[in-house]
Amino acid sequence: MAAKNPVIITDKDEMRKWSRKMRSQGKTIGLVPTMGYLHQGHLSLIREAHNHSQLIVVSIYVNPGQFSPSEDLSTYPSDFHGDILKLKSVPGGVDAVFCPKNLYDYNYNERQNTKNEKENCAAGHGAGVVSCVEEECSGHETWVRVERLEKGLCGKSRPVFFRGVATIVTKLFNIVEPDVAVFGKKDYQQWRIIQRMVRDLDFAIEIVGSEIMRDSDGLALSSRNVHLSPEEREKALSISRSLLEAKSAAEEGEVKCRELKDLAVTKITQAGGRIDYAEIVEQESLEAVEEIKSPVVFCIAAWFGKVRLIDNIEINI
Ligand code: AMP
Repeated sequence: MAAKNPVIITDKDEMRKWSRKMRSQGKTIGLVPTMGYLHQGHLSLIREAHNHSQLIVVSIYVNPGQFSPSEDLSTYPSDFHGDILKLKSVPGGVDAVFCPKNLYDYNYNERQNTKNEKENCAAGHGAGVVSCVEEECSGHETWVRVERLEKGLCGKSRPVFFRGVATIVTKLFNIVEPDVAVFGKKDYQQWRIIQRMVRDLDFAIEIVGSEIMRDSDGLALSSRNVHLSPEEREKALSISRSLLEAKSAAEEGEVKCRELKDLAVTKITQAGGRIDYAEIVEQESLEAVEEIKSPVVFCIAAWFGKVRLIDNIEINI
């Protein structure tokens, strides 16, 4: 079958128009949100989305709302043409690619570029939590927070991250109006936060969690892996290896989380990684547990050089 050419849409009103037209024809729409620089992990989400809807929209947008000014927004990798080629290679293809330029551009500065407005904008940072969106003074001031779930794990060292994710996903849901949206379990906390947000705010959207795709040596695929040197990449394998070891140990009866975490931390640190966190948490509430008595997920974030990697493994005993 010839590869399908997705329609490329950059304007949010055009995107909504396209979706409404398709829905008026009785078609169901699956959304796969991404930040681009696509790899097999992203493509696996598209394959999963094909199991749940007739048409597939992939969004490609590096969301400044989830990056703090000191993070890697400016160096986040991108390759739009490569991404489109990859999307064409997925069986069943993709129907539309939504790649807006700036979803926080409300022409605010053109309309209200007075000294007062600038000062008000700066004052709006009052809460102390600042992302690249506040830095731009775009006039955006509405944020979606999933208050408890966003606090632990990645939320500890990235205080603006999940607020930005929940907000951009809400915006994408309002623009694309999908029936289903697929998220990777690679970003386990993100998936759980979006599930909770959809339940709490009554979005009529089914949220599907899709399994982690790994390279053949076990490294979880990530757009950020491109920044790892070959040596760092080799050392970074300690994350997936220690997660697998922890799972085997748990299955063989080691239920004490302290022991399991210490083993993983030691292995990753000895390999040259710097641990951000290593936590064993309940799968839905993401509450830390001391002993494994029900299904949990072991989540790790660690730095290798300048690259922060995350990975996790579900332990269902
Ligand atoms: P990103 O482009 O990093 O924002 O990721 C977009 C989506 O792809 C998110 O739902 C991620 O969880 C998912 N994803 C990223 N890497 C993987 C992977 N290795 N396996 C499965 N899903 C992934």
